[in-house]
Amino acid sequence: METNSFERTFDAILNRIEKARLGVSGHHIVKIVAASKSATPQMIEAMYEIGQRSFGENKIQDMSDKVHALSHLPLEWHFIGRLQTNKINQLIDLDPFLMHSLSSLELAQEIDKRLHVKSKTMSALLQINSAYEEQKAGVLSEEALEIYEQISLTCKHIQLKGVMSIGAHSEDTKAIQKSFEATHKLFESLQNKGAKYCSMGMSNDFELAIACGSNMVRLGSLLFK
Ligand SMILES: *Cc1c(COP(=O)(O)O)cnc(C)c1O
Repeated sequence: METNSFERTFDAILNRIEKARLGVSGHHIVKIVAASKSATPQMIEAMYEIGQRSFGENKIQDMSDKVHALSHLPLEWHFIGRLQTNKINQLIDLDPFLMHSLSSLELAQEIDKRLHVKSKTMSALLQINSAYEEQKAGVLSEEALEIYEQISLTCKHIQLKGVMSIGAHSEDTKAIQKSFEATHKLFESLQNKGAKYCSMGMSNDFELAIACGSNMVRLGSLLFK
């Protein structure tokens, strides 16, 4: 991809984020995680050169390949996908900046066990299934505070830093908004427990997510089209 067109696309997106964030408050900072699953290491490097540092992958093998191919750059890697139990050690060895998809207490405890063995820690977000969709991972909003507490108490090697959610899969803006508001409400009640990130918003709904209080958006197709 030609760097110029890349830069123009990125600038246009930055403008949209800026507008959305100022709609909330001048103090509201939004972090962009570039969801790079469809991007080659060359494309990621091109994004890095125009200022992007954080990249998110949803498959351990792809993440491992890209982390190693780009180890000469000071990138921040996020894991945003479903984590199978047999891939936990691999994820730990990749030292992710943030794991967004802690989807159950059982998964957290399994990761914690492996972290203990390796004398490591990991920052993570609790994934909320705030749209009540069968096919989505995550804990239900009603159970989220209790599970967050349980993870904080029992998983000493996991540093919980907030919540993540995927907006409702719907054409109905109200339904998407409702799912974002539910996640943000949880985020607010977890702030006294160290919650720092409210990760929600993707290419099709990031402006709405920011309006609902998201401070971390995960953008894929829009950036790497
Ligand atoms: C791919 C992916 C994204 C980015 O989705 P786009 O619609 O391409 O912006 C965000 N979050 C997760 C968990 C993803 O897997």
